[in-house]
Amino acid sequence: MYPNCGDSVSNAYWFRTTKKSHLTVYRCRACNTAYNLYINTIFQQRRLTPQQVVLFLRGVLKDETSITLAAELKVSPQTVLDLRRDVQDSARCLQPNTPLPDAHTETGEMFQNAGEKRRGTP
Ligand SMILES: [Zn+2]
Repeated sequence: MYPNCGDSVSNAYWFRTTKKSHLTVYRCRACNTAYNLYINTIFQQRRLTPQQVVLFLRGVLKDETSITLAAELKVSPQTVLDLRRDVQDSARCLQPNTPLPDAHTETGEMFQNAGEKRRGTP
C-alpha cells in the first residue's frame, strides 16, 4: 500500500475513514496524496469492504458463478463480472513466458475459464 511517490505509510497520517467500505484513508506527508488499502489494485474505486474483497477472491478461486457471488456480496452481477475480468487480466500479466512445470499446470487451467459468462447455471 504505497502512494505513487513510493513513500511508506509510516510517513502518512490518518485523514478519514470511508463511509461505505470503512477503510482508513491516509494522506502522504511527502506528496499529499490521499489513499487507502486498495491503492493501485483492482479494488481501488469499488467501495467494497475488506470482507467483501476476501469473499470475492475466495469465490473466484472456487469458480462460483457471478450470479451466486453477486448475491453473496450484495453487489450487482455486473460488478462481479467486471472484477472477475480485472482479476483475469492481472493473472494474465503475471503469467511467466516459460512453460510451467507439470505441478503447476492445474492452476493455470483453472484461470483459463475464470471470468467467462455462464448464464443460467442453477
Ligand atoms: Zn506520497
